[in-house]
Amino acid sequence: MMIAFLTHTLAQAQYYYGGASDYYANSGAMGNMYSGVTLIGLGLIVLTMIIGGAVQAGLKNAFARYSEEAAPLTGAEVARRMLDQYGLHDVQIISTRGQLTDHYNPLDRTVNLSESVYNEATVAAMAVAAHECGHAVQHAQAYPWLGLRSSLVPMVNIGSRLGQVVLFIGLALLAAGSGTTVAWIGLALYAATTVFALVTLPVEFDASRRALAWIEQSGWASRAMHGQAGTALRWAAMTYVAAALSSLAMLLYYALIILSRMNSNRD
Ligand SMILES: [Zn+2]
Repeated sequence: MMIAFLTHTLAQAQYYYGGASDYYANSGAMGNMYSGVTLIGLGLIVLTMIIGGAVQAGLKNAFARYSEEAAPLTGAEVARRMLDQYGLHDVQIISTRGQLTDHYNPLDRTVNLSESVYNEATVAAMAVAAHECGHAVQHAQAYPWLGLRSSLVPMVNIGSRLGQVVLFIGLALLAAGSGTTVAWIGLALYAATTVFALVTLPVEFDASRRALAWIEQSGWASRAMHGQAGTALRWAAMTYVAAALSSLAMLLYYALIILSRMNSNRD
């Protein structure tokens, strides 16, 4: 019900401010200009979707390949060695269900590895395990970007849910000819998710950098394994870049819709 309403509202908003050529055909040069600008916003969204799809495919491909490459240790063994070397003997390593469920939990200080990463001795498992331990090391060393990211979580939980609803209500109000305040508030709430996606980037890049540096100096991984782990982790990092770009494109698109409406309300 709610979704239907929102979809309808968005469709209406698109009609008024987006690509409805009939509307703009009668609204003169200004209307055409803003129609063009919002179309550019829409084009950017499509572009980031294509980039996101390509990156996902590249990541899948790299992990499929490096899951076939044998490593001397399982993911769990890699994690234990790396944590111990940093003096993090009390950080636990847990096997979790599912695929791509690997993560570090700062609340209970556990490195959670998916079953295949935990049990298998492959280059892919080694790379993922070392990356998650990179987060544990960040936490232990009070890496500032990780702290900032964690402190944003509650704000993002509210912002992402409430932001979309308020934004769509704002756009509906705009369509009805009232002011832009509600739409801007919605957009500001929504922007919390974009900020989060951007702050995630240094955290992820740094965790991979720590993982690769440790693998290199640990001595048991060959040069080739180190290179393959680097490729796998670069693809993983690219998915976060793609997500941040897509979030930025959405933000820009909605900002352009509101701005164009502000202008046409003034006409
Ligand atoms: Zn990570």
